Amino acid sequence: MREILHVQGGQCGNQIGAKFWEVICDEHGIDSTGRYKGGSSDLQLERINVYYNEASGGRFVPRAVLMDLEPGTMDSIRSGPYGQIFRPDNFVFGQSGAGNNWAKGHYTEGAELIDSVLDVVRKEAENCDCLQGFQVCHSLGGGTGSGMGTLLISKIREEYPDRMMLTFSVFPSPKVSDTVVEPYNATLSVHQLVENADECMVLDNEALYDICFRTLKLSTPSFGDLNHLISATMSGVTCCLRFPGQLNSDLRKLAVNLIPFPRLHFFMVGFAPLTSRGSQQYISLTVPELTQQMWDAKNMMCAADPRHGRYLTASAMFRGKMSTKEVDEQMINVQNKNSSYFVEWIPNNVKSSVCDIAPTGLKMASTFIGNSTSIQEMFRRVSEQFTAMFRRKAFLHWYTGEGMDEMEFTEAESNMNDLVAEYQQYQDATVEEDEEGEYEEGAEENYEN
Ligand code: GDP
Repeated sequence: MREILHVQGGQCGNQIGAKFWEVICDEHGIDSTGRYKGGSSDLQLERINVYYNEASGGRFVPRAVLMDLEPGTMDSIRSGPYGQIFRPDNFVFGQSGAGNNWAKGHYTEGAELIDSVLDVVRKEAENCDCLQGFQVCHSLGGGTGSGMGTLLISKIREEYPDRMMLTFSVFPSPKVSDTVVEPYNATLSVHQLVENADECMVLDNEALYDICFRTLKLSTPSFGDLNHLISATMSGVTCCLRFPGQLNSDLRKLAVNLIPFPRLHFFMVGFAPLTSRGSQQYISLTVPELTQQMWDAKNMMCAADPRHGRYLTASAMFRGKMSTKEVDEQMINVQNKNSSYFVEWIPNNVKSSVCDIAPTGLKMASTFIGNSTSIQEMFRRVSEQFTAMFRRKAFLHWYTGEGMDEMEFTEAESNMNDLVAEYQQYQDATVEEDEEGEYEEGAEENYEN
């Protein structure tokens, strides 16, 4: 058994986390009381222990810890459709709130509550046979998921240095924003995620909004609409961890395939077919259509265009009944036609796999995880917003008032700028340069002249 321990924090983290559990319970045939209701396939229970504990009476209980600095969101989860499935002791919450202030989550209010969270985490970890790692759901724009979320990540790293840390991190966008200080909170968080997380699935509210507005034609997308896309993506990304298969079957294998350099662990994820809430049953696609859409910039949950950069690595998971041969052919086809968008110095950098079990309501679907240098576009966007305010020290007093030093802002800013520069460096890297002229990629062409 290789268990994963899930933690969700803050309003956004709890909302997307709750949806994630609804979706995967459904896929594994678990009802809202935690009982297996049987279903389409034996495969549903084969790896159920990755995400669920088995309690007495044959009930399945999510290995999930829910944390927040205010009770509201968790109250609605508790009274929601799957509210009773969670272990009541695993709800850890305060009353103070974080007021969209990263410093409150990381250094003051959150720091007061963190030990109670760690107690629950420890208890869950002790019950595991062989814990493979953690996954954390949070937003980076607020105070709790962002500040306290990254505090938890650093504490877990300290206590479990050899376990993997995966995050589902929601990046802020002014298109769906609550407050002006979100770029501060996000930059301070990225600074932490670069050092303390192993793999980050980037969920960018800017891209999610655009998908809802442009592709799904929703005139005023709500968080519910954005979260529908997120939960479909989270289900797709974790499919290879939850069902039997070869490719990326645990968090470490996923990391090994996708991360050529340790700091560059921020992934663009794509999903096909894109559906709005309630409409999915009408959509049915072929393997070539799924492949084409999955690689399309319009289907990426991150506002960055892959054609402005190059893929270091990528993985694709197809779900449903389909021919593996056709999948392989289509994937090769994409790479051959677009070879300039893949770095040539990592041969075979695209992997694909097929899982028999389609998501509920669809015959087939596919999820894409790409490590693309173009993701720097999103970091640049946040960085520009950060710098505009920081140059004038606007709103800093909210942070220094909680005891933070301005220096931490400067360091966070330069760490993110360094990250952007590293992506650019590998985007420009070629085989010739690495071999210092001893071998030239274009040599064969020269022979013909
Ligand atoms: P916290 O409770 O202090 O962690 O703060 P929030 O989670 O509310 O963080 C605010 C940021 O999260 C803003 O960028 C919001 O746009 C975003 N956000 C809040 N709730 C949701 C949600 O349910 N879905 C999505 N996609 N984003 C959210």
